[in-house]
Amino acid sequence: MAVIALFDLDGTVLTFDGAAPGPGRTAMGRASRELYGDDHTQGIRFAGGTDRAIARALLDRAGLPFDEDKVQALIDRYLEHLEVELARRPYRAIGDVAGTVTACTERGARVGLATGNVRRGAAIKLASAGLGDVFDLSRGGYGCDHEVRAEVVRIAIARCGREGPVVVVGDTLQDVAAARAAGAHAVGVAVNQATRDELIAAGADAIVDRCDRALVDALFRVAAWR
Ligand SMILES: [Mg+2]
Repeated sequence: MAVIALFDLDGTVLTFDGAAPGPGRTAMGRASRELYGDDHTQGIRFAGGTDRAIARALLDRAGLPFDEDKVQALIDRYLEHLEVELARRPYRAIGDVAGTVTACTERGARVGLATGNVRRGAAIKLASAGLGDVFDLSRGGYGCDHEVRAEVVRIAIARCGREGPVVVVGDTLQDVAAARAAGAHAVGVAVNQATRDELIAAGADAIVDRCDRALVDALFRVAAWR
């Protein structure tokens, strides 16, 4: 049975140079200012969240009731600002992402995405890092599919064909929790000791520090567990 390997994007596959806020948060802040007169992103945790959940939190902070049209308008404006911002400050890959995906595929895995980004946002971010052709976006669960990350993982699994053991690769405890809730294994990508400790506490099956051979080995090792 084919192993299904689902990658998170931000902080796992993609990072940015320069000071925070990163391109995503910057773009959402601009969309908020444009639509609601102020940047309502302060205090919202973006890492590990889904775009729909971030939009819900932002509307709440703006004192507006949740409404599907408002969510769509906010995400549409966000995507326009994201493209502009990424032309100036693109994302870059964390390690050898293309080589990692190729190695997973060569060992028989089905590689997909489980990300809080809406699908178009995922495509824009990957393209900015030169990774536009690396993932098959039809094998993904996205922030436009569901607000709850565990559901995003379940949708990604269904789109990958539900075949064999599933391993989620992510950088936040939300990735690990979503993997657990969906019956999947979790490999954490940690850039520092604090993140490493957090991911271990959340129940990650293995921890690596970037997309490389060690990640591929860890992924297949945990996939073989019962
Ligand atoms: Mg992430």
